[in-house]
Amino acid sequence: MRRLLHGPAEPGGPIHRRAVDRALGRRLDEALARPAAQQPDWPDPARAARVAGQLHDAEPVVAPAETARLAARLASVARGEAFLLQGGDCAETFDGNTESHLRGNLRLLEEMADVLAAAAGLPVVKLARMAGQYAKPRSNTVDALGLPVYRGDIINAPEPTAEARTPDPRRMLRAHANALEAMDLVRKFCADDVHVSHEMLLLDYERAVLWADASGPEPRLSSGLAHFLWIGERTRQLDGAHIAFAELLSNPIGLKLGPSVTPEQAVEYVERLDPHRTPGRLTLVSRMGHDLVRDVLPPIVEKVAASGHEVIWQCDPMHGNTRRSGNGFKTRHLDHVLDELAGFFEVHRVLGTHPGGVHVEVTGEDVTECLGGSPGVAEADLPARYLTACDPRLNAGQSVQLARSVAELLCG
Ligand code: PEP
Ligand code: MN
Repeated sequence: MRRLLHGPAEPGGPIHRRAVDRALGRRLDEALARPAAQQPDWPDPARAARVAGQLHDAEPVVAPAETARLAARLASVARGEAFLLQGGDCAETFDGNTESHLRGNLRLLEEMADVLAAAAGLPVVKLARMAGQYAKPRSNTVDALGLPVYRGDIINAPEPTAEARTPDPRRMLRAHANALEAMDLVRKFCADDVHVSHEMLLLDYERAVLWADASGPEPRLSSGLAHFLWIGERTRQLDGAHIAFAELLSNPIGLKLGPSVTPEQAVEYVERLDPHRTPGRLTLVSRMGHDLVRDVLPPIVEKVAASGHEVIWQCDPMHGNTRRSGNGFKTRHLDHVLDELAGFFEVHRVLGTHPGGVHVEVTGEDVTECLGGSPGVAEADLPARYLTACDPRLNAGQSVQLARSVAELLCG
């Protein structure tokens, strides 16, 4: 496949390119010229452009052949012949990019997959949130101290100082180097069915490593930065850059759907992102909250199923169930997480559709970030090992408990 070298003159601005498929390049320019939510305000755009230019010569993290292999496996998930387990940190960090942390997360994913496969009698496709999960969407632009919010290690640093929070484009190079190291470890420790994914959020990064891909029904671009990319709840504007960029990619795509989405909008997303009706091309990741999933999800599933597109239905039971504990920690209760999963399975059972997968924030480390489980984490335990850089993750014990619950739901 030909590499599409595509460099910005300035982030978000006109584009220089050295070797480009003309039509694809033009469509890429048009996509990236649309309004893009959740992008950093680089303090020195010319410097950011220089760094982004350097990234265009960067080594790919994944190979198109690996991505194609994942796409084939996801087709079997969409057809109801396999189950998708996606998980890892909410936010990877540069400091956390160690062999022990990555191995811990990979081992946990394997353990959860084994529980699921044994119970369901279905192959389990494993997808790590790893090797690039460095950019975070945020609800507010400033924190309680009036400082710019932390947007992930690829953009700024979490320490509460003006200097640390100033977006630094050189962090994109460091994120890329970290992603290469993480992917080396994945290849070293795992059989080839572990693939990597991250949120396709920071467009100055995502546009950097693209291959022209002529293998499908229309010419597209294959991202060399992850096998699977998803669009978050805060960047799924139908007229925005993220959806338009995802339309051009040949990688399998995920789309987070919160409770405000209408069935009509869901069908519009499906038609835009899966125009060739490719089973498994699109994963719809519902994150409705345990109290809403049973009411909000059914009309969405019905309408999309009636459209004839073979999507993967995946449940993210984490992001609709976040709350603040009495002692001030952003947390989630495992009971709410399990209840959303139960609701998700109920909806699909009634409608006769395949509950195709789960998407969870987990770590192999013994953290105290989410409440519940056994032995249980109580509010008073949260400060002991609350280590996440962003959202609270299930620890290893809670994650295996979740896998056992999902296994029962799959059998039931
Ligand atoms: C996430 O997956 O970390 C995330 C921010 O999710 P969402 O876009 O669903 O809020
Ligand atoms: Mn998160």
